[in-house]
Amino acid sequence: MKTQDYIDLENQYGANNYAPLDVVLTKGNGVWVEDVEGKRYLDCLSAYSAVNQGHCHPKIMQTVTEQMSKLTLTSRAFRNDQLGLFYKELCELTNSHKVLPMNSGAEAVESAIKVVRKWGYTVKGVPEDQAEIIVCDSNFHGRTISIVGFSSDEDSRKGFGPFPQGFVTIPFGDAQALRDAITPNTVGFMVEPIQGEAGVNIPPDGYLKEVREICTEKNIMLVLDEIQTGLGRTGKLLAEEHEGIEADLTLIGKALSGGFYPVSAVLSNSEVMDVLNPGEHGSTFGGNPLAAAIARTSLKVLVDEGLVENAAKMGEYFIEGLHRLEPPHVKEIRGRGLMIAIEFEPEAGGAKPFVKAMAKKGLLCKETHTHTIRFAPPLVITKEEVDFALKVIGEVLNGE
Ligand SMILES: *Cc1c(COP(=O)(O)O)cnc(C)c1O
Repeated sequence: MKTQDYIDLENQYGANNYAPLDVVLTKGNGVWVEDVEGKRYLDCLSAYSAVNQGHCHPKIMQTVTEQMSKLTLTSRAFRNDQLGLFYKELCELTNSHKVLPMNSGAEAVESAIKVVRKWGYTVKGVPEDQAEIIVCDSNFHGRTISIVGFSSDEDSRKGFGPFPQGFVTIPFGDAQALRDAITPNTVGFMVEPIQGEAGVNIPPDGYLKEVREICTEKNIMLVLDEIQTGLGRTGKLLAEEHEGIEADLTLIGKALSGGFYPVSAVLSNSEVMDVLNPGEHGSTFGGNPLAAAIARTSLKVLVDEGLVENAAKMGEYFIEGLHRLEPPHVKEIRGRGLMIAIEFEPEAGGAKPFVKAMAKKGLLCKETHTHTIRFAPPLVITKEEVDFALKVIGEVLNGE
């Protein structure tokens, strides 16, 4: 079968909810992936930061095969010998007290909403069904009904209502707007430290610190969605560390499994998680021994291989290199660690043609919205590989 045959199959039998580039991948190793025609690409998307450890990391793969042949799923009706160790190692690494394990990122977000609401009713004393959660304009927190209900993206929302109530939207990066939006019924503020899907939107310096102070002062829970920014992507283990703060609830997912399996978690560093009692929340696959074992090794690889430090170093080198290219029609080059974006002026004619041209030259990335390209390679990337990316980007943007 050739590339077009696979594409035809997807088009004939698959739901039409994605518009992928027409490359059909069959292998991956580190930052490299290979398509069915044998062409190699440097992956500058990393499955939206789910493969921070690189494709098919050998240590994680070994854990997968070992654990898979021993025990995969018990349900939480019984205990397993991986879950407690996963909890302990994750808490020690992230300075958290409690973990709630789930599978997809959206489930972690839904879980946080439930926990924060329950805390609001049982601890803060908000009247029944009156809890409000404040979120930000241009957020991306996933695709469930309640989450798309508070999205400001038309394509995500339109045609899917009615939506659950209790969410209030404010501008991103504006601490005063948060202060103004808080009412006696506010139970939480949920925000991405850097907005990923919106195009790597970095808030003003001091924003998270001020947000932390406001939440503490007003007795509301700060929920940081670090599903994309977390686990090394921005050059710190968690992006909150850039401002020296700690959220009440931190959501992680994506790279928690190194791309092998859906694993997400709600981390809680206050007693908010203790509002949950048996029977009130759960997931058949959440916390299963295969997921727990994979997550343990995925975390260990991040630490043992110095991937957080490498993200900081290579990110700086990558961003400097982009500036040196001096590409035309660029509005802004921005990034933190290996979460990097170029935003083009409208006269560049949209980012998509650049993305296609880069793929032809062996670099995979994806435009986000119309005018922005995100570059987020696996954190194992070397200087030589960044040089390769910069060469391709330079050639394409300078029309060579
Ligand atoms: C990807 C993402 C999610 C959703 O994760 P899924 O695993 O796709 O459900 C939530 N929040 C942020 C910030 C994300 O980047």
